[in-house]
Amino acid sequence: MRFHVLTLFPEMIEQGLSTSITGRAMQKGLVSLDAVNIRDYADNKHRKVDDYTYGGGAGMLMQAQPVYDACMSVQSRLDRPARVVYMTPQGSIFTQQKAQELAQEEDLIILCGHYEGIDERVLEEVVTDEISIGDYVLTGGELPAMVVIDTISRLIPGVLGNGVSADTDSFMNGLLEYPQYSRPEIWRGKQVPPILLSGDHAKVDRWRKEQSLARTRERRPDLYRKYMEEHPEAEGGAKGKKSR
Ligand code: SAM
Repeated sequence: MRFHVLTLFPEMIEQGLSTSITGRAMQKGLVSLDAVNIRDYADNKHRKVDDYTYGGGAGMLMQAQPVYDACMSVQSRLDRPARVVYMTPQGSIFTQQKAQELAQEEDLIILCGHYEGIDERVLEEVVTDEISIGDYVLTGGELPAMVVIDTISRLIPGVLGNGVSADTDSFMNGLLEYPQYSRPEIWRGKQVPPILLSGDHAKVDRWRKEQSLARTRERRPDLYRKYMEEHPEAEGGAKGKKSR
């Protein structure tokens, strides 16, 4: 998977993703990151990329031309046109499902806005998807882009390490994940649920499924309702159980 990020702050993206799991994924060549500085495409000697908004109002807007040229430059290097995702609070909310869909792409161009955002005309021209990471406003699209890249990267086979998969994570099957425990068996008087020490894999699986259902019902009734509509046979799995 190749990520191409159009940004005014390439070092922020590079530094943010160069450590831990995403950093190792890049070293192993499972994902690559090309942080493109939009300022390099400014057509004026001061490398200015923003200007006042027509109609008045405070704040500066990123201009269409450098964003367009940066995007076209990336597209021209690819074998086929890539999807262009604009990070914006006005986009559809990012979900695990969207991450799974985007993880199928070979190349993905991610556009980060700054200041008041980007001239609408270039967005109409180049953008295929608009994604928000939540109903709040950040200063720029770099952190949202990193959220998207991190989430997609861990779905790429091999990124999480041998034998580890994202399949049981929250949202992957429409539910929240069950609670998990590590050593010691008793900590501050709290005992690990005995069933997890039983060695009976079928029982452990059943317990985890019940916990997952109970937890989702308590914490995310919206997800629980949707899951039950799609899996009516699971009705009863969470009945009477508390996730804690
Ligand atoms: N004036 C814009 C509006 O009200 O919709 C907000 C601009 S914001 C200050 C600057 C940039 O940050 C945006 O162009 C976008 O790239 C990014 N951004 C801010 N909040 C975001 C969010 N919740 N999700 C994704 N991107 C966001």
